[in-house]
Amino acid sequence: MKTNVTEIFGENVFDDATMRERLPKETYRELRKTIIQGLPLNRKIANAVAHAMKVWAIEKGATHYTHWFQPMNGITAEKHDSFINPDGPGKVIMSFEGKELIKGEPDASSFPNGGLRTTFEARGYTAWDPTSNAFIKEGVLCIPTAFCSYTGHALDKKTPLLRSMDAITKQALRIVHLFGNDDVHKINTTVGAEQEYFLIDKEYYSQRRDLKYTGRTLFGAMCPKGQEMEDHYFGTIQPRVKAFMDELNVELWKLGIMAKTQHNECAPGQFEIAPIFTTTNLATDQNQLTMEIIQRLAKKHGMVALLHEKPFEYVNGSGKHNNWSLSTDTGINLFEPGDTPYENLQFLVFLAAIVKAVDDHQDLLRLSVATAGNDHRLGADEAPPAILSIFTGEDLAAVIEAIIKDEDYDSKDKAFMNIGSDVLPNLPIDATDRNRTSPFAFTGNKFEFRMPGSSQSIAGINMILNTTIADALEQFANYLEGADDFDSAVHKLLQNTFKKHSRIIFNGNGYSDEWVEEAKRRGLLNLPSAVDALPYMKAEENIQLFEHAHVLTREEAVSRYEILMEEYVKLLNIEACTMVSITRKEILPAVMKYQKELTDSALAKMQLLGKDAGIYEVEILKKGQALLDQAYLASEKLSEAKDVLKQFDTIEDKANYVKETIVPLMDELRVPCDELEVITATTAWPFPTYGKLLYGL
Ligand code: ADP
Ligand code: MG
Repeated sequence: MKTNVTEIFGENVFDDATMRERLPKETYRELRKTIIQGLPLNRKIANAVAHAMKVWAIEKGATHYTHWFQPMNGITAEKHDSFINPDGPGKVIMSFEGKELIKGEPDASSFPNGGLRTTFEARGYTAWDPTSNAFIKEGVLCIPTAFCSYTGHALDKKTPLLRSMDAITKQALRIVHLFGNDDVHKINTTVGAEQEYFLIDKEYYSQRRDLKYTGRTLFGAMCPKGQEMEDHYFGTIQPRVKAFMDELNVELWKLGIMAKTQHNECAPGQFEIAPIFTTTNLATDQNQLTMEIIQRLAKKHGMVALLHEKPFEYVNGSGKHNNWSLSTDTGINLFEPGDTPYENLQFLVFLAAIVKAVDDHQDLLRLSVATAGNDHRLGADEAPPAILSIFTGEDLAAVIEAIIKDEDYDSKDKAFMNIGSDVLPNLPIDATDRNRTSPFAFTGNKFEFRMPGSSQSIAGINMILNTTIADALEQFANYLEGADDFDSAVHKLLQNTFKKHSRIIFNGNGYSDEWVEEAKRRGLLNLPSAVDALPYMKAEENIQLFEHAHVLTREEAVSRYEILMEEYVKLLNIEACTMVSITRKEILPAVMKYQKELTDSALAKMQLLGKDAGIYEVEILKKGQALLDQAYLASEKLSEAKDVLKQFDTIEDKANYVKETIVPLMDELRVPCDELEVITATTAWPFPTYGKLLYGL
């Protein structure tokens, strides 16, 4: 198949070019204005846009439309309506009006709302977000929307994200204006999300109830080969996977998603795809679509894509690197060290804001990635620890050091820098300076937040990033706007900020035990479990931060906390139930059947050869019997614990019980079951083993 990429790119998107081509000039101009200025859409324009959209969509084979939104459970939701309307007896016309474009009313009572909306006032509405283009997916015109309750509360992940983008834009603008960049009118947050995933054969998947119900293997002994040979990472992509990736790229390109990089990841069967970065809300929509299309196309190719953070014990799990930056409407990346002293000074102010934000808001950044799935990664030797820190690289670290000590900075080329004077040279920042173990790394012209889990929506993550950094920028702007002598105020601000917050900078090995100790000495937060982190969402100072930035109301913040905690409890409860069921219905019966074979064999041999025969069978039987009993008792304990869970009233008590009691009991059950697998014939084991799952493509 030959693909003309430039031709197909964006062909399923009602994008700017399409709008310009298909809308009356005046309508197009009005629509652009409403998009750029964020104004509400008037009915006349909406009707014209809806009409053009419908004609375009029908030409592309669409029969339905949907308001495509992102409820708080982190997936995307859609309810399809066809364009048909009655037109005389037995006849229909295809219609789509402005009001249907602007607003939808899904019966939304079964989406999580964390107490924001009781079921009797179930109605919420969806509203078109014209900053994200409509697109066609599977014959359906999808209109990206925000989802709110009639009382005005955000019931989705998109609305707060858009608000947080406004919040940071506002504060960042103040800073660039202070530096005399009056030509800048808008600042965008940009994101590029690298997505990791596993692929396994569909046949094997269908035989594993743990994968089907929970997305990860709850049992499984390690196969003889893991990732120790390091032969999968960046290795040749095998034909079956390559065919899948080729089709994935085409689908994404058609949707205007700039799929750019693809490669094998560390673990066997693990892969990554990365797009070119774009505005945050688009990047969020696109990442949701990417995850969805990965899953759909994998099936088409006889595989299943696992997006879970830790589908397999013993090999790396999957993350999602959130590359983040700020750029102006004049095309300047604010985290690109500049060519002039003043640009560099501005860069340092933005850098200082990040340092302050990450230090001040370790709790929020940690909780932005707190999920049951991610608990398996953070703190293991494959992902950053559950402790926030920033990697600056040696060059920037030296600059910061010089600022703190008020010394001239002696750069590699021996030029001197004295902050606040005109002799600031180019900052010699070596972007190849990489540290893969840092949760928050400066990578030359952007920051890479490496803690997010692979299945997470990046909406909440960026909502928190934007809000916390907006907070730091606001404090800076307040201070600098009030200063008499701007240059010396900047100098003082940088020095004080770096002095106060440099404990958050760490350029060493984040995976080491020494860092955990060192971080403790520095007084940094270490929150190993989601249950430790999530309660910070409703800490008074955090609620006030969100309210002040107009990102979340108190009720919205608390509802998000409740939903995340409930999700944690529900997920682990499902995992526990699945484990008990698989043990009782699959593992124990399979082992008993195998034991019967061993017993028959041993008895037959003894009869033939005397009572010393059958040593092997007898030994395996003894070992197996001990493990069988152990597994049985552990499954009973876990089952009882699940019943105890029902007795707790508050979500805090439930979550803590899950973390303290249920999770350890799950580990306790897995051990004898995995040992049984090792001493049982593969043909007798009830489901495919790690060897097949990891190497069975
Ligand atoms: P890596 O070494 O991490 O693979 P890349 O340069 O390939 O680094 O970038 C990784 C991701 O970062 C890509 O998705 C890329 O588009 C994104 N990225 C690059 N620049 C920016 C930026 N200014 N803002 C946000 N994301 C960016
Ligand atoms: Mg990267």
